Amino acid sequence: MTVTGHPLLIMPMVSRVDYIQPGEVSLSVLLDVMFQIVEIFVKGIEFLHSLRIVHMVDICGGNMLTAHPEHASVHKQIVANRLYIIDFGQSRQFALGPGVQRAITLPETQIEPPNGLLHFDPYSWDIYCTGRMLEYFVTRRYNVVWKIPPPRLATKLIEWLIGNERGCTGVCHCRPTAREALRVLIVLRWAVGAPEDYAWIVDSLADILPTSTRT
Ligand SMILES: [Zn+2]
Repeated sequence: MTVTGHPLLIMPMVSRVDYIQPGEVSLSVLLDVMFQIVEIFVKGIEFLHSLRIVHMVDICGGNMLTAHPEHASVHKQIVANRLYIIDFGQSRQFALGPGVQRAITLPETQIEPPNGLLHFDPYSWDIYCTGRMLEYFVTRRYNVVWKIPPPRLATKLIEWLIGNERGCTGVCHCRPTAREALRVLIVLRWAVGAPEDYAWIVDSLADILPTSTRT
């Protein structure tokens, strides 16, 4: 409690995702991070969506944090290497749920909408931002730090999440739901963990993912 009587909420400390060391990020680790992000959206954002709440404005790389092992040793409720989405300050609750809610006029958002669009299905917007956040994470790690192209599978997965937005004014079907994305990731994680003799499985799965024609 402050001297003026306002309550204070002190939360455990977590770090930016960049703390993960380059040498640790193999394709399987990368997919593991992606899986966590989408899993968070299924268990977290989709939970919010079931309450007709959309994160809305602030999904971006800066609001995706991870716990360092030292943080976990200090705070028992923190799990090392787990990803945490923060900043729900401008989240919004709708009268209608996902699959029913039509596009709305977007407020000013951290991530720029595609093709200069001013309206979006808010639930699909959360997924679009998730794809853009993954793109930021993967591009930064591969193209900027390592200066090599990212795995084709990761690129295809990100394109699938971002989708090819057609400017829907009703319910948007331009990208998967968080639950659909999670199902695909479960298969991809299994395939990446398969023996080298079965590496063709990864390429085959990459071919199955729809190719985006976005500009
Ligand atoms: Zn759409």
